[in-house]
Amino acid sequence: MTAFNELVLASHNAGKLKELQAMLGDAVRLRSIGEFSSVEPEETGLSFVENAILKARNAARISGLPALADDSGLAVDHLGGAPGIYSARYADGRGDAANNAKLLDALKDVPDAQRGAQFVCALALVRHADDPLPILCEGLWHGRILHQARGEQGFGYDPLFWVEDCQRSAAELPAAEKNRLSHRARAMALLKQRLGLA
Ligand code: IMP
Repeated sequence: MTAFNELVLASHNAGKLKELQAMLGDAVRLRSIGEFSSVEPEETGLSFVENAILKARNAARISGLPALADDSGLAVDHLGGAPGIYSARYADGRGDAANNAKLLDALKDVPDAQRGAQFVCALALVRHADDPLPILCEGLWHGRILHQARGEQGFGYDPLFWVEDCQRSAAELPAAEKNRLSHRARAMALLKQRLGLA
């Protein structure tokens, strides 16, 4: 049995809260950090895990409650893991279309065999702000970067992310299927096991 009835989610994104709550189930209620503060901490870590821990500690400090944070992005093998933790601002904050255009340019003339990539999600759960033993779970979703965008669904790099098993891009998958296969789903499945909810 888990010791948590509720957790503060270190995100102001209502869509993300809904998605993670659906994956987590009813046993633990997620509350938005927006109930407590509108200030977001600077993400100064060099890895997904470091940033997730930093955000979780901040949310626990502000709310006085146990906190869950996620940090995610796209790591491309040929680019040494870039854009990685900088995925959201890869094209200097000019948005998803610019991020995707920059990625296509960076992989221009790179053959399929070298276009491997993974979406990464790190989850960190802290019982309190100074918790010395955060619960850490990572989920990876392996794929390949296409030569051009396909599909209209999802967000971010989904139109460029080819999912071999489905023979579709992530942006061509119905939301329910993406939410079953994705890096967030995999990380959340591990977290549920750790909390005794699976
Ligand atoms: P966040 O940490 O969930 O806000 O994601 C950071 C960035 O990683 C997003 O702005 C996207 O560029 C990228 N990203 C994370 N998850 C996904 C996904 O499921 N599909 C497409 N892009 C994603």
